[in-house]
Amino acid sequence: MRVHTTRRSWGKDANSYSGMHGWARENQSDSPRPSPNETEFDTVPRVAFGSSDSRSVFAMPTIFKRIIDKEVPAKIVHEDELCLAFHDVAPQAPTHVLVIPKKELANLAAAAGEDQALLGHLLLTAKNVAEQLGLTNGYRTVINCGRDGGQSVDHLHIHILGGRALRWPPG
Ligand code: AMP
Repeated sequence: MRVHTTRRSWGKDANSYSGMHGWARENQSDSPRPSPNETEFDTVPRVAFGSSDSRSVFAMPTIFKRIIDKEVPAKIVHEDELCLAFHDVAPQAPTHVLVIPKKELANLAAAAGEDQALLGHLLLTAKNVAEQLGLTNGYRTVINCGRDGGQSVDHLHIHILGGRALRWPPG
């Protein structure tokens, strides 16, 4: 099995997000390239879906972990000891905010019984943030989970979308 080094692509200012499913191969001449029948996912030795371990063997933090650690700036609208809420960098509605736990959970599938109170806290925080941002006509909360769910950042997050009428069904 070939093992390739990969890392997340942060963009020039270390605040932007790019790449297919959140990943971009380091563009260095000495970086090994995958063979045509290897996918990007085949070559990334990390555990995400259904695992509480969101870190790869290379221990690269996700962009959200870097926001929690204040290494990457974000437009924060709420912070407490358990979670953080900030504006999405690529908004899909007039208001688009993400609520994330400070605990490193890869996604909803990685949550366990011990996370019950945390999950409740995240939902109530989403409700309070929606009120705080004046979404009086309603809003949508979304949790993408895993590849088929369209998840691109492997750190649990709740999207809050509002400020316009949203269509249904999504995707
Ligand atoms: P998902 O596709 O459900 O994993 O959602 C990830 C979301 O994170 C996307 O809506 C991205 O636009 C958003 N995002 C990625 N990087 C950042 C960042 N640095 N600041 C704010 N939002 C981000």
